[in-house]
Amino acid sequence: MKLTLIRKTKEASNIESFVFNPAEPQVWKAGQFIHCVLEHEPMDSRGEERWFTIASAPFEKELMITTRIASEKGSSFKAALSALQVGETIEMIELDGDFIVEDSALSYVFIAGGIGITPFHSILKEADHAGVKLNVTLLYGNRDEGIAYKEELDGFAKNNPNLVIHHVIAPQRIDQSLIEKLVPNLQTPIFYVSGPEPMVESLGDVLKEMGVSASHLKQDYFPGYTWE
Ligand SMILES: Cc1cc2nc3c(=O)[nH]c(=O)nc-3n(C[C@H](O)[C@H](O)[C@H](O)COP(=O)(O)OP(=O)(O)OC[C@H]3O[C@@H](n4cnc5c(N)ncnc54)[C@H](O)[C@@H]3O)c2cc1C
Repeated sequence: MKLTLIRKTKEASNIESFVFNPAEPQVWKAGQFIHCVLEHEPMDSRGEERWFTIASAPFEKELMITTRIASEKGSSFKAALSALQVGETIEMIELDGDFIVEDSALSYVFIAGGIGITPFHSILKEADHAGVKLNVTLLYGNRDEGIAYKEELDGFAKNNPNLVIHHVIAPQRIDQSLIEKLVPNLQTPIFYVSGPEPMVESLGDVLKEMGVSASHLKQDYFPGYTWE
């Protein structure tokens, strides 16, 4: 299905959002992703297909993706996406995913590494719109003060006393001691971890070693990024 670009927004240094109008109305759950194709020339060996979380909330109807545009060694795909003009299209070949909140009565710890914030942005925006006071502790790690969606997230927290956001800026890292400090009871919440693949794998192992059961852990891996 064709997605037509309707606007682009800069979220932070090197982070951009692309908002698309789908050719047919889409129904999805906050936290799901799209698999898309962007034909372009010349194309590098990394190809014309990518997966992106839908960063917008379902009530918005528009499909927004937010991504990092690398200053060095960026792919031809990202260069073509960056150059896309309003009115031009990309192709969506799949919409799917289970990185969703199924029970809004439970408590959650969301851990985002950088651009891994995208599913949480969608989930928290949808909850804010619906007036659902999700019980969430969000640990949001970034390499510097250029933080995507910062003001919006802070606004959601103002509307919801059960949403607590901790910004973790390098050189501080999200690790065992920080999780122990910020999450007093590890047995109760469901942990959602999203971001660069090495970070999500490593924090998943840390959480399991800390006693978090597999049924209380969901991971969303973004391949193609390193964890600096
Ligand atoms: C379910 C799912 C959801 C996702 N959601 C998002 C999302 O919301 N936002 C998002 O940004 N991404 C998301 N991703 C990841 C996305 O699909 C891309 O893999 C990612 O954005 C990297 O894009 P890119 O390969 O074009 O690399 P670029 O972003 O252009 O480059 C990233 C860095 O990768 C390094 N690199 C990686 N491979 C190579 C290579 N072969 N040669 C040289 N350098 C290389 C470079 O150092 C470069 O700086 C998601 C992935 C999945 C599976």
